[in-house]
Amino acid sequence: METTHIEHIGIAVKSLEESIRFYEDVLGLKCYNIEEVADQKVRTAFFMVGQTKIELLESTAGDGPVARFLEKRGEGIHHIAFAVKGIEDALEHAHKMGVHTIDKQPRKGAEGLDIAFLHPKSTFGVLTELCEDRSK
Ligand code: ZN
Repeated sequence: METTHIEHIGIAVKSLEESIRFYEDVLGLKCYNIEEVADQKVRTAFFMVGQTKIELLESTAGDGPVARFLEKRGEGIHHIAFAVKGIEDALEHAHKMGVHTIDKQPRKGAEGLDIAFLHPKSTFGVLTELCEDRSK
C-alpha cells in the first residue's frame, strides 16, 4: 500500500456551529467548506492545516454512525484518514492481510473523495479511513 499523508482527522461534535468557533477563533483556522453527506447521516465542516484537513462531523439523524459514537464515547476523535494511491488495491491489500474492512468497495465521501473504512477492531481501536482524490 502506498500511503502518502494524513488526508484528514475526523472529529465527532454535537454542534458544528459551536465547534467551528473554536477552530476559527482560538486556532485561527478558516472553515472553507460545509457539506452534508446524506449517505453517512452527517454534516461536515472542513479546515485546512498544511496538507491535512480537520473534518468536523455532526450527526443529522439519531440512528446515524456519528450519533451512536457520540452516545457511546462522547465528542472526540472519530477517525483518521490516510491518503493512498490506488484505493481499490489498498483495500484489497488490507483485506488480504486479514483486516476487517467495513467497505468492500470504495464509495463517495465528502469533498468528492473515494473512501473506504477499516474496522477499528482490526486497527487497534482507531476507525481508519483510506481515501483517494482522483480529481487531481
Ligand atoms: Zn473522513
